[in-house]
Amino acid sequence: MKRPEPLEIYQPTSLGEASAIQRNNGPGGYFLAGGTDLVIAIKEKGIVPRYVVDLKTIPSLNRIRENPDGSVTIGALATMREVETSVLICRKYPFLAQSAAEVGSIQIRNRATIGGNMANATPSADVAPSLLVLEATAKVFGPDGEKILPLDEFFVGPGKTVMKQEEILTELTIPAMPSGLVGEYIKFSPREMMDLAYVGVAVALALNSSDRTCRQARIALGAVSPTPMRARKAEAVLLDQKITAELAERAGEEAAGESKPISDVRSSADYRREMVRAMTKRALLNAASGKAPVTWAERRERRY
Ligand SMILES: Cc1cc2nc3c(=O)[nH]c(=O)nc-3n(C[C@H](O)[C@H](O)[C@H](O)COP(=O)(O)OP(=O)(O)OC[C@H]3O[C@@H](n4cnc5c(N)ncnc54)[C@H](O)[C@@H]3O)c2cc1C
Repeated sequence: MKRPEPLEIYQPTSLGEASAIQRNNGPGGYFLAGGTDLVIAIKEKGIVPRYVVDLKTIPSLNRIRENPDGSVTIGALATMREVETSVLICRKYPFLAQSAAEVGSIQIRNRATIGGNMANATPSADVAPSLLVLEATAKVFGPDGEKILPLDEFFVGPGKTVMKQEEILTELTIPAMPSGLVGEYIKFSPREMMDLAYVGVAVALALNSSDRTCRQARIALGAVSPTPMRARKAEAVLLDQKITAELAERAGEEAAGESKPISDVRSSADYRREMVRAMTKRALLNAASGKAPVTWAERRERRY
């Protein structure tokens, strides 16, 4: 483990100040949120920052709130633990809380932020698939003001987002969801804890209360393409249908076909593709079973 070089640390108290520090000091600056990715990158991956701009000193960036139109906004500095335990998130989107609960250990989750998870843009980021099926938008603050874009367009490659050096992700907003929404997130990693996802699958379904046919279907995958991705062909298979084991199997096959996994130390591309098929099927059946909300422990049990 490398000892970090001496570096300058700034503690701004507003977004404007934080962005201006990056603009005025030029290359080599990094924003710091929980530091669970950045500090590892400094110590083990050869990143040598000239200076660091701590976002934690800017007030109110960690708020989780429901808006009058039914949408929910999560501040970029909200920790995974805050997302996992938020009464609002657990009530409205239990599978999003579940995906936050899948990150690292409780010590990591007490520091790791949802904004850092998105800004770091690892293809296996656990919270990304759930936010994608919820069609979240990202608000980005920069020298030219604020812009809002679909999270789908925020990621551009492994470790890369649309943000420039002086831009800050400030919040993620989940639009109001259709009634009857059910969902599931499955992180597939044989070690179960303290490991990155080999495959992550989130599904969100809006089912008709009368006959349980599928009015809306969204599926997103993590760790199987350069960025977290929607599996839109698989979604199309489900529309206006009842979620049976056969249909979920067909959707799983479509999702596997759409995924673009690589082989690495964790697993081969073929194995990942096969796990996309199996986990998509399982996530769809779990979600459609309508048994949620259940405890995390029970959810873990039904994963395999
Ligand atoms: C032991 C361990 C286990 C882990 N397990 C998991 C896991 O299971 N699943 C998982 O998904 N991740 C895991 N991680 C990775 C990490 O915890 C998450 O990605 C975390 O959410 C990153 O958030 P952070 O606040 O710590 O980001 P930081 O480390 O502070 O920042 C990460 C990057 O994003 C930039 N950044 C941060 N916030 C902003 C912002 N608001 N605007 C612009 N840029 C920003 C920083 O400049 C930096 O480049 C693990 C990490 C460790 C050390």
